[in-house]
Amino acid sequence: PAPLKLEANVLVMGADSVGKSALTVRFLTRRFIGEYGDLESIYSHSVTVEGREVLFNIWDFPYSQEQTDESCVEEEKRMQWADGFVLVYSICDRASFNMIRHKVQHIKAIKEYLGLEKLPIVIVGNKRDLHHRRSVSSEEGRLLALSMDCEFYEVSAAEAYHGTLLVFHGLVDKIKESKMVS
Ligand code: GDP
Repeated sequence: PAPLKLEANVLVMGADSVGKSALTVRFLTRRFIGEYGDLESIYSHSVTVEGREVLFNIWDFPYSQEQTDESCVEEEKRMQWADGFVLVYSICDRASFNMIRHKVQHIKAIKEYLGLEKLPIVIVGNKRDLHHRRSVSSEEGRLLALSMDCEFYEVSAAEAYHGTLLVFHGLVDKIKESKMVS
């Protein structure tokens, strides 16, 4: 029998202007457009990953500086909704990198995961093409991900499709494990 269709709710998070929309749109359309509005969007898109049909619901949520009680509650609702997380920083923006650890801890607290190896979180260092402006080394990114039990990729949404594909496919593997389907 054909394997069951997997539904994956994915929340894309990270600081402002790190390329959350660029990565999402690159994955969905294989294209880089350059400028993206700051509208919140949920995209549904079916793809085949390793022979299995996966329906992605991707929630690209713009970052807001202002944190009110209400916005925190809304963020927690989005985290509850998600089966998997793409946490994006820019390799040129140290503040965006510093946010990642806190976000992972927040997700862990919300989801109350017991088995850390099943945490479906991918940390992505974006804008790898801007190496002349790099302020976060690959090693730092890799070590952070290792210490938080997350997958790690460095990519350029602007330059290539392949890295972005690996991010979302890597996340599907983790979501499958967390839902205990093979
Ligand atoms: P968001 O606010 O996190 O959704 O960021 P956007 O996707 O809107 O991207 C912010 C800006 O960074 C835009 O001008 C993009 O064109 C640019 N950008 C996104 N990804 C890359 C990348 O990989 N390399 C470069 N050079 N620019 C990028």
